[in-house]
Amino acid sequence: MMAFDYDLFVIGAGSGGVRASRVAAAHGARVAVAEEHKVGGTCVVRGCVPKKLLVYGAHFAEDLSDARNFGWDVPTCGFNWPRLQANVLAAVDRIIDSYTSTLEHHQVEIFRERATVSGPQEVTLASGRTVTAERILIATGARPHIPDFPGCEHGITSNDVFHLETLPKRVLIAGAGYIANEFAGIFNEFGAQVTLINRSDVILRGYDESIRDRLLQISMTKGIDFRFNTSFKSIEKRDDGTLRVDLDGSDAMEVDTVLFATGRVPNTRGLGLEAAGVELDKGAVKVDADNQSSCPSIYAVGDVTNRVQLTPVAIREGQAFADTIYGNKPTRVDYSCIPSAVFSHPPMAGVGMTEGEARNRLGSIKVYQSDFRPMKNVLADRNERALYKMICESDTGRIVGLHMIGPDAPEILQVAAIAIKARLTKDAFDQTVALHPTMSEELVLMR
Ligand code: FAD
Repeated sequence: MMAFDYDLFVIGAGSGGVRASRVAAAHGARVAVAEEHKVGGTCVVRGCVPKKLLVYGAHFAEDLSDARNFGWDVPTCGFNWPRLQANVLAAVDRIIDSYTSTLEHHQVEIFRERATVSGPQEVTLASGRTVTAERILIATGARPHIPDFPGCEHGITSNDVFHLETLPKRVLIAGAGYIANEFAGIFNEFGAQVTLINRSDVILRGYDESIRDRLLQISMTKGIDFRFNTSFKSIEKRDDGTLRVDLDGSDAMEVDTVLFATGRVPNTRGLGLEAAGVELDKGAVKVDADNQSSCPSIYAVGDVTNRVQLTPVAIREGQAFADTIYGNKPTRVDYSCIPSAVFSHPPMAGVGMTEGEARNRLGSIKVYQSDFRPMKNVLADRNERALYKMICESDTGRIVGLHMIGPDAPEILQVAAIAIKARLTKDAFDQTVALHPTMSEELVLMR
């Protein structure tokens, strides 16, 4: 039998790679992982974690203003971007350290450099060293897509946004997905003038129409300027650092920062996968239900496979891979009923089918809605309504979709998603006594 340097070599120490490395090692495998940037990957370093901390930071703008109607004498408060930024980056560093020590504790060898595949069972490191492994796991994630047009190099992506030296006063955000809408909310709460441009005329495709319409309406009321059916012609950087942006479909603009949130593409460029016999589909590694690629010794998990680009999914795929191969516990990820959220202001969240999808797939459905002004918003004199929508199969009453926008929607939806996943019916919700007064009691009182 050929002796390999490692049983498993993982490329990429992000959500999927760290979980797979740790669990495989715990099952007794000899594991190494290569990371070209920072252990923790997108979620920890430049995604979910720092983004959510900025969302918290931004929301104080509304809380401080609302506090006045609750009796607090709040002076005009200034906002200190460098202080929030330093605290967020320090929090990120602590998580990176903790991920690193977890890997070390499990005797996973960490190579802090880029790795590429140089054969079905061989990896070449940036230093030039080659190592062999019985199996290779590709967990290289995805990177921001930047549209190609004159001056596009003057824009930034979500990778750079956490490191801005100063808070821009005028921000142009391109895209209409969750990252675009989240950063539109963040910058708007910090007092910047925010314009969001999008090639089509919808935001947050894939989310329920009534919920995304509500977000659009509230965001516009808060002062975010949306320009639809608009794309870039060029960006010109002036001597004073400001950017002149020429657009197709809309007037030219002058801004301080252009943020591209125009999608994420799987990180497979230059990885050497094709030469090793790994089939790609639009740049994503094609895998079967057990995360195995067309090359039997090479597997892939997470964003690089472009299945569902979310952290908990990458983690589950990493866990399933390690349990199946090294733990004698065959496991497959169940992709049904994956809840997701947009941490906008207010946030929205959903699980299961949208109303449109349910009508197409099931035909006969019942839709229940609760459109209400949260008690806290009433006293704060904040004219912002929440909307909850439940979609049920007509004959059985089984809930097939739940969608909501309003304060704490993601926190509420995570719990409700358990019931949807367990195939509960609307009757089961109705039989549950309301917990009063809460916003989530609306879920058991829907008509
Ligand atoms: P990643 O976490 O991206 O890890 C891949 C790692 O591989 C990276 O560290 C990279 O440096 C490394 N790498 C790449 N190529 C090589 C190479 N050749 N050699 C060595 N190392 C390499 N998801 C959520 O669930 N909730 C959210 O709220 C959320 N918010 C997000 C906000 C933003 C701004 C972004 C960008 C993403 C967000 N996501 C969110 C998505 C989430 O971050 C990803 O789905 C998740 O990180 C995917 O994990 P992964 O392991 O596939 O890849």
